[in-house]
Amino acid sequence: MGERDRIEALGETAGEAIERMVRELMARKPGGHLLESSLRDLELRVPLLLRDSQDGKREFARRIAETVDRLLDDAVQQVAAFRPGRTYCHRCASAVCEHSQPASGREVFCGYAPTGTPRWIDFAQYCLDRRHPEVDRLYATPPALLTLVQTRTELGGEMLNAFRDGTYELMGQVTAGFFAVQTRAEEGRGVVALTAQAAAAGSRRGRLRLGLNLLGRAPGGEPLDALWDREVDLPWRRAVRWAQHALESLPPKLARRDRRGGFPPALEARIDGILRGLGRRLEQGRRARSRRTNHAEGRHASGQRPTRKAVDDARGATLDTCMVDDRSGALVVLGDRGRTHFFTTDGRLVSSVRYSKDSIARKVKAELWRPASSGDLEQLLANLPES
Ligand SMILES: [Zn+2]
Repeated sequence: MGERDRIEALGETAGEAIERMVRELMARKPGGHLLESSLRDLELRVPLLLRDSQDGKREFARRIAETVDRLLDDAVQQVAAFRPGRTYCHRCASAVCEHSQPASGREVFCGYAPTGTPRWIDFAQYCLDRRHPEVDRLYATPPALLTLVQTRTELGGEMLNAFRDGTYELMGQVTAGFFAVQTRAEEGRGVVALTAQAAAAGSRRGRLRLGLNLLGRAPGGEPLDALWDREVDLPWRRAVRWAQHALESLPPKLARRDRRGGFPPALEARIDGILRGLGRRLEQGRRARSRRTNHAEGRHASGQRPTRKAVDDARGATLDTCMVDDRSGALVVLGDRGRTHFFTTDGRLVSSVRYSKDSIARKVKAELWRPASSGDLEQLLANLPES
């Protein structure tokens, strides 16, 4: 066995031993099962305390075990604080208690009670209380889509500090309603109000994990996921995905607590900007949808067999020349000399037009078009007809 092989073999042995240690500790921990998918993100740092004596070895073993244990504890806490569809209840120190979700599809989160219990309110009532100028449009058929943005201070104002445990920090939210959703026959008109919370789960070292948590219920009172089965394209999906991505992409040096455990004003300002962007996108998405329904929904949904030129351009597309139109969800393929094709992800052509260079640049700048993912592009390529 060569020198390299021997070192590799020793590395494997060490890796296996640590993996067994991690798995045993995980198995003993409540909530340990939640970590399976995030294990890769954990980073183990242990000082090398290598001494000959038995004591030294024992000390080293103790330090590794302790460090892994703490790492897993932190990770479980972060994962458990983000329970999709539920907010964090500071009174019960949990996101799975009876207070952590709305009682009906019309309710949104409106802040914490002094003892840390989440408060919920009918979205229309909330708009009235906050004097939204267009509140009466909520009662139209179909109802208007209104949004409200609240900052961290507005939402946590009444909670006594003794009830804050720093596990789940609500950084602000957008409430939006009403979305008309398909219902089962017996449920009648189905409307849903949503609360999208920007939340930070903190670790002890001050680094924050930011995420968007979506709270709401289907019209029949089932969890929000139930709608996935019924609606092909949830009206808020694209906007929510945009906001989630924007939050995750905040620079690490910004997403930290400051020395006193508070949040830097620059971080709060960025989050506020993202939430306002989310509110705008939710409202625009609604307008674009109703326009499409009136005019071109049929054409848009069906598409045509793409022309030869469009297929050629799509085959040659790279991540630089393929984008997503945020309003319609269509894939935009840029060909030569301003040739622009709109495809559905399943490979049908919605339309082909010619745009000037400036006009393309403007759309990108206004974020009407955003970069496609390699998954989007692969899906399109896979669905193009044989030529
Ligand atoms: Zn509770």
